[in-house]
Amino acid sequence: MSVKVGQAAAAPAFDKAARSALGNTQLRHNVRNATDVIRARRAHAVAETLDWQQLRDSARAIKDHVLRHLAGYLEQFETACAAAGGKVHWARDADEANGIIVDIVRSHNAREVIKVKTMTSDETALNAALEAAGITPIETDLADLIIQLGADKPSHIVVPALHRNKSEIRRLFMEKMHLQDLGERAEDLTAAARRYLRERFLRASVGFSGANFAIAESGSLCVVESEGNGRMCVTLPKVLISLVGVEKIVPTFGDLEVFLQLLARSATGERMNPYNSIWTGVTPGDGPQEFHVVLLDNGRTGVLADAESRATLACIRCGACLNICPVYRQTGGHAYGSIYAGPIGAILTPQLQGMKHSRSLPYASTLCGACLDVCPVKIDIPSILLHLRHKVVKAHGAPLSERLAMKAAARAFSKGKKLESAQKLVRIAQKPYVHDGVISRLPGMLGSWTRFRDLPQVPAESFRQWWAKRQSKETL
Ligand code: SF4
Repeated sequence: MSVKVGQAAAAPAFDKAARSALGNTQLRHNVRNATDVIRARRAHAVAETLDWQQLRDSARAIKDHVLRHLAGYLEQFETACAAAGGKVHWARDADEANGIIVDIVRSHNAREVIKVKTMTSDETALNAALEAAGITPIETDLADLIIQLGADKPSHIVVPALHRNKSEIRRLFMEKMHLQDLGERAEDLTAAARRYLRERFLRASVGFSGANFAIAESGSLCVVESEGNGRMCVTLPKVLISLVGVEKIVPTFGDLEVFLQLLARSATGERMNPYNSIWTGVTPGDGPQEFHVVLLDNGRTGVLADAESRATLACIRCGACLNICPVYRQTGGHAYGSIYAGPIGAILTPQLQGMKHSRSLPYASTLCGACLDVCPVKIDIPSILLHLRHKVVKAHGAPLSERLAMKAAARAFSKGKKLESAQKLVRIAQKPYVHDGVISRLPGMLGSWTRFRDLPQVPAESFRQWWAKRQSKETL
């Protein structure tokens, strides 16, 4: 089995990629503006939902229950889906999933596939596999279409083209859609995309989707979206293929009541997504007449086996943790080197494809805890980040500078006398760098710390010395 998450295995370490992203002021401006808008909308939608905390608790309880009984629910889903006329396939990894999908498309002699936005197919790099087989994938979600036409990479799990502004999109559409002129208003851009896609919707014989939720009791899938393109992809073609991560299971139709309220508000600040498509198997004369579900593992059972980080699989991909994260808001999504960016990407990518490739990601966080505060399923991302950092250090050791610093600190703290001597040394060494009571510029490697913040100086006397002096004054 070979697990992969897009191109993440070949991506540079986060700190290197982040450095170049920080130099791109246009990108930072675009990301800040877009996340500010979504955050404000989310805050408003959450504030008016009086049972918000109870909804979060319920969602987490459902997800924890499913993860404890996942095998049983997956089998229940398979039985119900087959009974309704669907066919379930099991894929251990990305290549196996892509192979199954390519074979189905080929068996219908189809040359094109229309696609609904799905991060899972970006995870398996499905588009590259389809193209290699001579099949053209057509992204129909506006943001994914922008990414596809620009040969770009997604930078956000809900708004993949969040790093692009309207003028950039206008230029891209004019070039790729061969348009002489195009307005810059959002309506002009969406109208151009609609014209470009409409004909493709009508001629495609195979549709492709992911799923936000897979309902075990009925074998149904649910996709939520805002543009209506998803509804067309899952209803117009003769054949429909859906790629679904095994963690997307919910036990009953009734559970959607909880998740649909949380997802829309957390993702886009809406009370409800404009389009909620739920379908079960096939119905003669109505919609696709052949329906395949590919259930994807690709490292998920490995995550499930680790009790301390298992909650990662409870994620409903709302993107709220990205919008609030101070690191993501500065670097944007590409620095994470994975299709899963932000705090959820920092814990999901290294766990899915192994810590060997993405060991810098658990450090892409200030551990401020804002992601936990907004997460609709209460995933304790900071604790999982610490757990993963511990794994990185255990497997690869800490960086040399950190090890030397810790050794020196251990020596200094081992005896009171040694600590006093160390303090004396530091008091002498710090003198040239102290201005107005703080150290604001250090030389060499230490300068990385003072480049962005001040360091308090070591005080003239330690607490112990101050206390001893006070005691002797009192006894006099
Ligand atoms: S971790 Fe939580 S906040 Fe982040 S995308 Fe997943 S559900 Fe949303």
